[in-house]
Amino acid sequence: MLENKPVVAELKNILRNQDSHWVGDGFPVRTLFFYEVQGQELSPFLLLDYAGPREFPPTEAKLGVGPHPHRGFETVTIVYSGEVEHRDSSGGGGKIGPGDVQWMTAASGLVHEEFHSRDFASKGGLFEMVQLWVNLPAKDKMVAPRYQGIVSSDIPSVELDGGACSVRVIAGEYRDVKGPAMTYSPVNVLSLQLKENKPVEIEVSEGFTRLLVVLKGQITVNDSDVIDGAQVGLFERTGNTIQLQASTDAVALLLSGQPLDEPVVGYGPFVMNSTLEIHEALNDYKNGKMGQLS
Ligand code: MN
Repeated sequence: MLENKPVVAELKNILRNQDSHWVGDGFPVRTLFFYEVQGQELSPFLLLDYAGPREFPPTEAKLGVGPHPHRGFETVTIVYSGEVEHRDSSGGGGKIGPGDVQWMTAASGLVHEEFHSRDFASKGGLFEMVQLWVNLPAKDKMVAPRYQGIVSSDIPSVELDGGACSVRVIAGEYRDVKGPAMTYSPVNVLSLQLKENKPVEIEVSEGFTRLLVVLKGQITVNDSDVIDGAQVGLFERTGNTIQLQASTDAVALLLSGQPLDEPVVGYGPFVMNSTLEIHEALNDYKNGKMGQLS
C-alpha cells in the first residue's frame, strides 16, 4: 500500500470572536464560529458556542433555556464541567456531565429544553461546555430526530508520543480508532489534551474542512502561528498533517468534515437549503408539527 506523504495543512485564518451573550439564563457563551460570518468555509459545521468557564453560585432556580425548536441540523453538546439536562419532544433526553457528549439530531424538527441539572444547580460550581451545530446533507434534513447520549467511558482515546497528546474520538476516527457517535456525513470530532512543550503531529483528512478550537492553554501551529484559548484555527483544505505544540497544558477540539457543498439558508433555530424551506419550518413549528414538551 502506498503511504500518503505528509504535507502540512497550512493555517488560513485565526477566528478571534470574543463577544459574549447569554443563551437563556444558564449559558454565557462566546460564538467562536458562525456560518453567517464564515459561510461555506465551515461546512459541514455551522456554529460553535463556548459556554463559560464560569462559577455559578448554588441556586434552586432552573437555569437554562426553555422550550424552543430546531430543524435541519444536529446539536452536539460536550460538557467539561458541570452537568446539563435535556428533554425533547421526540422522547430524547438525559443528563450529561464532564466528559459526556449529547449528539442530538433535530432533522425534521423537535422542541427541546436545555438546563443546568438540578443537582449541579443546587451545589453550584464551575460550568463549562461547548455546543457545536453540525449541518445535515439536504437529503437527510427531514429524517426523524435521534438522540445519542454518549458517556465518557464510551469514548475511546489514542495516546500520541508517549502521552504528549491524548486524542479522544467522539465521532469519526483517528488512526483506525472509531468514535461512538453516528453521523450523516463524514465528520471527525476529536477532543485533544496536549502536554506542555511536547510537539505532536496530527493527521487530518485531505479535502476536509479542518478547525482547531482551542479552549484552554495556548497552541503553536505548524511552528509559526499561536492560537490562544477561545480562538479557532481554520486550515486550508489541502495537506494532511498539522503540527501542534502547547506552551501550557492545553485542551482543544479538532473538527474535520467533508464540505457539503449545498446552499445554507438559516433563520434562528432552523437551518435549511432555501427560504421556502425556512417558511415551511416556521409554519410547521407554529402548527405544532415539531411536537411539544409535556
Ligand atoms: Mn437548542
